Amino acid sequence: MTDPARDIDALRTQFAEELARASGEPALRAVRDRYLARKGGLVSALLRGLGAAPAEERPRLGQLVNALKQEIETTLDARASEAAGARPPTGAVDVTLPGRVPGTGHRHPLTLLRERIEMIFSRMGFLVIEGPELEDDYHNFEALNMPPEHPARDMQDTLYLAAPVRSLAGSAATLLRTHTSGMQIRHMETHPPPVRLIAPGRVYRRDNLDLTHTPMFTQVEGLVVGDHVTLADLKGTLFTFVRELFGEDRQVRFRPSFFPYTEPSAEVDISCGACGGTGIDCSMCKRTGWLEILGSGMVHPAVFEAVGYDPERYTGFAFGMGIERVALLKWGVEDIRLFYENDFRFLEQFPL
Ligand SMILES: [Zn+2]
Repeated sequence: MTDPARDIDALRTQFAEELARASGEPALRAVRDRYLARKGGLVSALLRGLGAAPAEERPRLGQLVNALKQEIETTLDARASEAAGARPPTGAVDVTLPGRVPGTGHRHPLTLLRERIEMIFSRMGFLVIEGPELEDDYHNFEALNMPPEHPARDMQDTLYLAAPVRSLAGSAATLLRTHTSGMQIRHMETHPPPVRLIAPGRVYRRDNLDLTHTPMFTQVEGLVVGDHVTLADLKGTLFTFVRELFGEDRQVRFRPSFFPYTEPSAEVDISCGACGGTGIDCSMCKRTGWLEILGSGMVHPAVFEAVGYDPERYTGFAFGMGIERVALLKWGVEDIRLFYENDFRFLEQFPL
């Protein structure tokens, strides 16, 4: 018969040798199974073998085997956590890792919104035209029924150039355009009616930077001229636009207003999306149920005279909106400046 105490020592030695050869987690798992498995494990087998030992010896031998089992468990745990913690030395390059894909980005939300607006009007047959940001007084003011000294010029705090420069349109520019209406004039000067266009682009005013104003902003103006163009056409066009951009449930309201280049003129409001137009406890619409979105009106006969259109024959409508303002309304953003701070965390929130 074998000596159980010697068997225990032999197994301890055998384990130490096998452990020394085992490297890597799979090998360590194999050693653990071989020694500690409840069924077929070497330690279990040793315990079972004690049944053959003399009864007075068994408790002591049992303690020895359990101590060995504990020892093997502790040693294996230590080796396993060592293996898991193993890392390549600092500065080493693991060439087997997948590459890092750089972010591809997307266009600015204001650009996306401008394109969306252009698409809506294009589908209604509008031409999209662009023009110079440096403009002359005639196209920015005078041809739009705002002669020098006209008080309405005060409505648009203008940034004037120190000296005239030759603009892209070929004229002597004296200011940064305050609206894109100059493009309406330029188009009518060179094209007979009918006209159906929108003119998107940057405009400049001497406004201080605050929650809702920036010295530079983006505008979209529209102009339709032809035979029998009426206020109903203006209303239908804007109604279609608002519902396309904001959703079918939006209402539109016209409020009388004043612009020198349109008569009659109207501010256009849309029903508030935050409160469904009820105004109840709504900070978005200041409890009115309505949000101001753009200005519009029927083209003033003096504008037609300036471009050589017959005001007795032709009628037309015009409208203008700030894309930033539309963005504030569409997305419920409260601070216009966020659109110009180029913080990715903000800019990435606006899929269209
Ligand atoms: Zn509201």
